[in-house]
Amino acid sequence: MNRETLCVRGTWRFDSATGAVSVPVYQSAAFRHPGVGETTGFDYSRSANPTRSILEETVALLEGARYGLAFSSGMGAVSAMIKLFPPPSSGGVSHLVMSGDLYGGTYRLFHEYYARYGYAFSWVDTSDLSQVEAALGPSTRAIFIETPSNPMMKVTDIGACAELIHRRGGSLVVDNTFLTPYFQNPLDRGADFVIHSGTKYLSGHNDTLAGFIVHSREDAAVPLREAQKSEGACLSPFDSWLTLRGIKTLALRMEKHQRNGALAAEWLRNHPQVERVFYTGLADHPQAALSAAQARGHNGMVSFYVRDRALVDRILRRVKLILFAESLGGAESLITFPLVQTHGAIPEDLRLAAGVNDRLLRLSAGIEDGADIIADLDQALG
Ligand SMILES: *Cc1c(COP(=O)(O)O)cnc(C)c1O
Repeated sequence: MNRETLCVRGTWRFDSATGAVSVPVYQSAAFRHPGVGETTGFDYSRSANPTRSILEETVALLEGARYGLAFSSGMGAVSAMIKLFPPPSSGGVSHLVMSGDLYGGTYRLFHEYYARYGYAFSWVDTSDLSQVEAALGPSTRAIFIETPSNPMMKVTDIGACAELIHRRGGSLVVDNTFLTPYFQNPLDRGADFVIHSGTKYLSGHNDTLAGFIVHSREDAAVPLREAQKSEGACLSPFDSWLTLRGIKTLALRMEKHQRNGALAAEWLRNHPQVERVFYTGLADHPQAALSAAQARGHNGMVSFYVRDRALVDRILRRVKLILFAESLGGAESLITFPLVQTHGAIPEDLRLAAGVNDRLLRLSAGIEDGADIIADLDQALG
């Protein structure tokens, strides 16, 4: 089936007892056992919940994966993921090579938290393969990339990274939040694990947090399921239902986000107060050819430098339709100031090296009328 159909229908057909077309919300913590040693397949919702299971199967199906796990947030998924690479019990460290330009929360979780537990990280520009290769060492267990990256929209070669790390027996993890399975399937290009913040495009309405790990690695199936069950960062039945509902319109929304993103990027590029625009869909994006080779489209994410620092405050105060808020991928257009909001946790040298300065703004073009978004940018830039 075509991916548009898969988004709408997923793995669900209808409820066999009632004929309900929509997946029921099994808002139950516990499930009755018919007798000792007997189970319906569900015991307790931290282990598994029927609504969540349908969602997990759906996201796995969209990514072409065998296994899917839904977490209470993207960070819950990232946190479970890293424990698949434990430091050796004999001492020493587990080393991971990371995209230097990535979600600030992931940086904070790894750098300020997991660094205390025997993990070491190298933060490099993974869009430059020579930097990735140079960072690999004897204790490297994984490469962890975001492509396109956040907020500079750099594109990393998924297939090449997979080859580099597989040669050393390690794993490639790809955070696919920015393109979703509708536009990009990292597992098809050799990645071992895909992560999503379902809070963004997958649920798509700025109304729930969710996170996913999807993969087809038999050796990881039990450890990841155990991590989800043991740590308890699992997605609630209702949030699972909201995310399932969001995914039904993923194809329509991504096409519209892409149109509005391209429109905003072109308009901003021609504005005299804008110095530079970062959007993967611009024909002169430095990795346009790589994007075309490994992805089927672009999102609504447009970052840009304004010429003057004072303009940042003016724009954020003056936007009316576009909301000054720190998320992305929802129906409503949002604008953020990465330096303060999403990337505040990243040290200045690393942040500046990545390009996150005090004149950078990041627009998440929603699915409103494109002309209305442009009109709002126009009056805000003044
Ligand atoms: C938001 C985001 C996360 C974290 O997800 P939450 O759902 O906010 O916990 C991780 N990666 C990327 C690329 C994100 O945009």
